[in-house]
Amino acid sequence: MNHYKYIVLGSGIAAYAALEELIKKTKDICVISKEDECYLRPLLSKTTFSSYNFKVTYLPDIYEGIPFIHEEVKEVDVDNKIINQKYQYETLIYALGAENRKLDSIENGFYLRHIEDFYRIKRELPFVKEVGIIGGGMIGLEVAHLLSKMNKRVNIYEYMDHLIPRYFTKEDSDYLINILASMNVHVECHSRRSDYEEKCVIVSIGNTKNNVFDEPIKVDEKMKFKSDIYACGDCVEGNFALWNEAYEQGKIAGSNALGKEATFEKKTYPVLFHLDKIGVYAGDINSDRTFTRIIENDLFSINENSKKTYISVHDGHIVVIGDLRYVDMVKEGRL
Ligand SMILES: Cc1cc2nc3c(=O)[nH]c(=O)nc-3n(C[C@H](O)[C@H](O)[C@H](O)COP(=O)(O)OP(=O)(O)OC[C@H]3O[C@@H](n4cnc5c(N)ncnc54)[C@H](O)[C@@H]3O)c2cc1C
Repeated sequence: MNHYKYIVLGSGIAAYAALEELIKKTKDICVISKEDECYLRPLLSKTTFSSYNFKVTYLPDIYEGIPFIHEEVKEVDVDNKIINQKYQYETLIYALGAENRKLDSIENGFYLRHIEDFYRIKRELPFVKEVGIIGGGMIGLEVAHLLSKMNKRVNIYEYMDHLIPRYFTKEDSDYLINILASMNVHVECHSRRSDYEEKCVIVSIGNTKNNVFDEPIKVDEKMKFKSDIYACGDCVEGNFALWNEAYEQGKIAGSNALGKEATFEKKTYPVLFHLDKIGVYAGDINSDRTFTRIIENDLFSINENSKKTYISVHDGHIVVIGDLRYVDMVKEGRL
């Protein structure tokens, strides 16, 4: 039996952040993960598929001198503090993240979560002119945009009545759908299809948490899940499944595992992405104002839409589509 003071499960950003904290004090740590060292996962939907020099950006190497075991975690024996019946810990950081939710009705569907998923899609693209994307969330929209730049026709099938319902009104959504149409990306909302004509269908309908326990992973504000187990990142119940959230939680988990008293303050995170130079921002605003405005500007121009910035403030939310410098102007009451 191998014994370690700390075992970190996973090598995503939550695990990385926890490790950053732990190595400040000790090297009596072991990392167990299916994947290699931590890379910028969000780049997978921001890196053009046609690029033949695609190199995933790995974060600075902090693993030196720390055993890194490439193995699937199948079991955590909580009573005896043993992983896979082989590795014993005193304190555990559980950061196994999530996997894409699968759609059983789609045979040979494509998903985008890991580097190999990126390459699988990339290999398929030369053979198709049209791509279907199931799910019009942030990742689906980013991928659609990348594909449109490769001159593919893209059809997005969204189950909800309009895009990004957490922040968007139908009017906001229609504005964005109009821009996407000018990029040869066509959105069908309220879609109830179960079969698709496209040969290549990318499924992007959210995540399933990687959980080897018999109960949901619920943590307190110290990221503590159970006695001597801290959990952080996408595997934790109630998270928004975002990079910064996973990073902040990893820091807190690592810190507290060392005996500190750090607390995680739950907050909301904005939705933020770019379609070329057209920024899309949707988040909270501390204001009871309501207005919708389209501002013409000459800051840049890719097509007619990019000369305009759409601003909508409603129900404590702000949506800006265009030049994102307007976000701060609205938040600071300068507009
Ligand atoms: C394509 C894409 C684009 C994104 N874009 C953005 C964005 O623009 N902005 C944003 O804020 N967020 C974005 N996200 C979300 C963000 O990447 C995640 O919230 C974040 O990476 C979660 O980090 P994590 O460490 O919790 O989990 P993960 O990154 O999922 O890491 C989990 C780790 O555990 C390993 N693992 C899992 N199960 C096992 C097992 N049983 N045994 C061993 N190892 C295992 C995995 O291989 C992985 O190394 C995006 C995600 C994707 C997929």
